[in-house]
Amino acid sequence: MKRLLTIICLLFLATATHAQTNPPSESVLERFLRYVKIDTQSQEDQNKVPSTEKQLVLANLLAKELKELGAENVRVSEFGIVYASVPGNLPDNSKAPVIGFIAHMDTSPEVSGANVQAIIHKNYRGGDITLPKDPTQIITVAANPDLKNLIGDDIITADGTTLLGSDDKAGCAEIMTMIDTLRRNPQIKHGTISIAFTPDEEVGGGIDKFDIKGFGAKFAYTVDGEELGEISNETWSARTATVRFQGKNTHPGTAKGIMVNSAYAAADFMTRFPPTMLPETTAGRIGFVHPYTGTLDVEESRFKILLRDFDLSGLNTKEALIRRMARLTGLKFPKVKVIVEVEENYKNMKEVLKNFPQLTENAMEATRRAGLKPHLRAIRGGTDGARLTFLGLPTPNLFTGGHNFHGKLEFNSVRGLEKSTETLLHLVQVFAEKGM
Ligand SMILES: [Zn+2]
Repeated sequence: MKRLLTIICLLFLATATHAQTNPPSESVLERFLRYVKIDTQSQEDQNKVPSTEKQLVLANLLAKELKELGAENVRVSEFGIVYASVPGNLPDNSKAPVIGFIAHMDTSPEVSGANVQAIIHKNYRGGDITLPKDPTQIITVAANPDLKNLIGDDIITADGTTLLGSDDKAGCAEIMTMIDTLRRNPQIKHGTISIAFTPDEEVGGGIDKFDIKGFGAKFAYTVDGEELGEISNETWSARTATVRFQGKNTHPGTAKGIMVNSAYAAADFMTRFPPTMLPETTAGRIGFVHPYTGTLDVEESRFKILLRDFDLSGLNTKEALIRRMARLTGLKFPKVKVIVEVEENYKNMKEVLKNFPQLTENAMEATRRAGLKPHLRAIRGGTDGARLTFLGLPTPNLFTGGHNFHGKLEFNSVRGLEKSTETLLHLVQVFAEKGM
């Protein structure tokens, strides 16, 4: 009898600690499939934010749905940024920091996002996935090693004619589903949450218009990353060098002894790039120098060169290398004047985030609670979060389950969407438990 009682007590404890959460009013998959149908492609070189009017269709829809889900202070700014806040439900909300979640609404200008026909490949058994409307579009295991972790999952792709738009409608759907779930589960304790959905991330204009003060968060996360478990608190530190070679032009018929053709000096300079320090020969944490555009003329030739590294010392070394290459070319072509100018583009957000280790630690803890293995990945690029971090809002990046951004081979999975949402739900609880 005593044993039976013990068993009953244990059973009771088990059910109490693993209390069922009520499902959201709409599954994250259904929500995602609705959002990807809306074409929100942004456009380069527009002098307005948002760069395309059609992004406002999703912005207005998200604002309407946020209101329906009980979010407060819902507004769409003149730049098409959606802001909202979800009040905390702690006995004293001031004990937990206000945490922000940000996803972008636009899709890449590189590939069409109109008439997206999402396809669910149920119960993936392994192997390459050929997209039905264009058999040349194949998601291969060789190029996508993470596929082996998705066996048994339902994989979501486009039909081969468009991108999927998981970047970043997965982030939008996951954040919305988190809010939906919190509303239906008041037993989940959390502090105040700030929400923002931004336009024009892909063309780098939207974040300049971001109202950090109005957003009201102490810390934030962009929900815009890739495979499950991947957290990013590092970006490149980035500079651009412009190297100019000044010669002297004259009519070629009477050029003897007068003309100085700068193109030869420019060509000499190009041969001095170390082959092992280029984007096409580096990966992971190794930075690069990248001459990506230029002009050749007798009078003046010039190149623009991207300098990228995760460490400022490495970036300084790369700048010194470019200056040395220019000096050596100048010595070889004494009649050509060589000028090097270097501008700062952005800095590794780790420079700031190292002062807020709890942001990464809490994200890793939430990831583990969702049953995933967290891992850090340094982003070989910049992010909106990096910009916000240097403007005073520390903002690492969280995974969404997505892969192959900006192309027709883009994919996510049902588990990817669900586990990412679950991680967000754990994350607000971790902040509520740990406090400021
Ligand atoms: Zn993105």
